[in-house]
Amino acid sequence: MIALRTNEEIALLKENALLVSKTLAEVGKRIQPGVTTLELDKLAEIFIRDHGAEPAFLGYDGFPNSLCISVNDVVVHGIPSAYRLQEGDIVSIDCGTRYKGYYGDSAYTFAVGEISSAAKQLLQVTKESLYKGIEQALAGNRIGDIAAAVQGYAEQFDYGVVRKMVGHGIGRKMHEAPEVPNFGRRGHGKALKEGMVICIEPMINEGTKEVYLDEDGWSLHTEDNKLSAHFELTVCIRKGKPEVLSTFEYVEWESK
Ligand code: MG
Ligand code: MG
Repeated sequence: MIALRTNEEIALLKENALLVSKTLAEVGKRIQPGVTTLELDKLAEIFIRDHGAEPAFLGYDGFPNSLCISVNDVVVHGIPSAYRLQEGDIVSIDCGTRYKGYYGDSAYTFAVGEISSAAKQLLQVTKESLYKGIEQALAGNRIGDIAAAVQGYAEQFDYGVVRKMVGHGIGRKMHEAPEVPNFGRRGHGKALKEGMVICIEPMINEGTKEVYLDEDGWSLHTEDNKLSAHFELTVCIRKGKPEVLSTFEYVEWESK
């Protein structure tokens, strides 16, 4: 069963989505060489609680922190630690909130100082692939239209599109039906209907699409240890034009 949300529910999901977007911007302001990923996690937790919400990742399936922080070859689910970010790293910050009974979930991959041109292209293409997917998030389309748009765009650059992890519906739980893969065939999969709310989140690798699980039980690494990027936004399915509930505007305004 895929839920169709009322306008009241969509408004609450949007409050969560915007809080997550603002949290990412707060974290983004502090990203620089020398900062530990645990410091970033703490400031996000405080910011979320100061807004009357709860960090949704903390304790989720036993996850120990408020943010997933995934550096360089870590695709997703990196655990904040004493690691100090270094010039040239790329770092994915994935954040979730719970507020008024609903959830928010969004991710952005940041550059730490000056990064290589190869890394810049990976970030750019991954973000663009997300927007290609969002363009297809329309009533009357199917999940496969989103999936094929993301995959087709990223693979033009010979990047690996991660299969193991996928996007998802969001509502009164963080992960709800449907699954939203970043690979698939146009015209296939579940039909999109007005009022569905989904998280689209391409995870794109510089090299192979294959990943392995770290000994820590959480972090997913690229199998060839090349870079991986991850961007995620929450989208409400509408007729004619998707309604994007979260935004990168706060992040990108702060980094200007
Ligand atoms: Mg996320
Ligand atoms: Mg998600």
